[in-house]
Amino acid sequence: MDFLSRLTGSFSTGAAGNPTVAVIEAAYRHLGIDARYVNCEVPPEALADAVRGARAMGWLGFNCSIPHKVAVIEHLDSLGESARIIGAVNCVVIRDGRLVGENTDGQGFLISLRTVVEVAGRSVVVLGAGGAARAIAVELALAGARGVTIVNRGRGRGEALAALIDARTPARGEFAPWDGEYRLPEGTDVLVNATSVGLFPDVDARLPLDGDSLSPRLVVADVIPNPPTTVLLRDARARGCTTLDGLGMLVNQGVISIRHWLGVEPDTAVMRHTLEQIFTG
Ligand code: NDP
Repeated sequence: MDFLSRLTGSFSTGAAGNPTVAVIEAAYRHLGIDARYVNCEVPPEALADAVRGARAMGWLGFNCSIPHKVAVIEHLDSLGESARIIGAVNCVVIRDGRLVGENTDGQGFLISLRTVVEVAGRSVVVLGAGGAARAIAVELALAGARGVTIVNRGRGRGEALAALIDARTPARGEFAPWDGEYRLPEGTDVLVNATSVGLFPDVDARLPLDGDSLSPRLVVADVIPNPPTTVLLRDARARGCTTLDGLGMLVNQGVISIRHWLGVEPDTAVMRHTLEQIFTG
């Protein structure tokens, strides 16, 4: 008999609104393993103690969400390649007392995208330049995208991300200002909405895009998980594009975390079903 559970979890503020615990614990239950995921409300001033506590209690690792994704780095021993380039960590793996920081935001998106298209050699347009956009743009560039165009309302953040792609990855990074309706360049293969436009409760918000530039050859992906079918995805489907919702990104981030912590392969269908029940009732 063994009464010692394997411990994992999450440190963030606003933790009560984070559904990851339900998704990961559903995966643990389905795998039949005695592991727990503890969703913890951790204010910025308590982060150092929380990290020390996780190490002291033998946790296998933890996710970090807002506002700890950058601040946690000073408490870690090393970083994975994309986390180093992105400059943010959302998954910490504790092995032999050493803490390694990974960024699974973009990796989760990439796995989801690969269910509909291979990214190598493709031209990608990313809308947004915040945390999600940064992770996605870097990961797509490292996976062999030919070019990544960043379209953002705020010029400074957009230009900085395009410059990062150009300097630190093999892909060409470009910035395009977002003045009025954005027209996708001819030859674009993949469009990613990584802004928060369309997120619940603002579900009717429409991005300023020239609908005529959404050609049927495009893959249009949204990172917004709630609602799973956004206005952008509805518009893109009506134009004949292939579409991808934000649930896949969220599910695959959990998959990557579980692989890192426990070295096992969870059932994605169980995890997605749990999320669908949360977001669509
Ligand atoms: P940030 O606050 O870091 O970035 C928000 C981005 O959206 C910025 O680029 C901002 O532009 C842009 N934006 C916000 N409002 C508007 C607007 N009205 N018009 C044009 N652009 C706008 O947020 P995150 O990057 O952390 O999150 C972005 C989205 O990604 C959220 O909806 C979140 O739910 C989702 N997400 C999904 C995940 C998943 O697994 N599916 C994981 C992580 C995030 P500007 O710089 O000009 O302000």
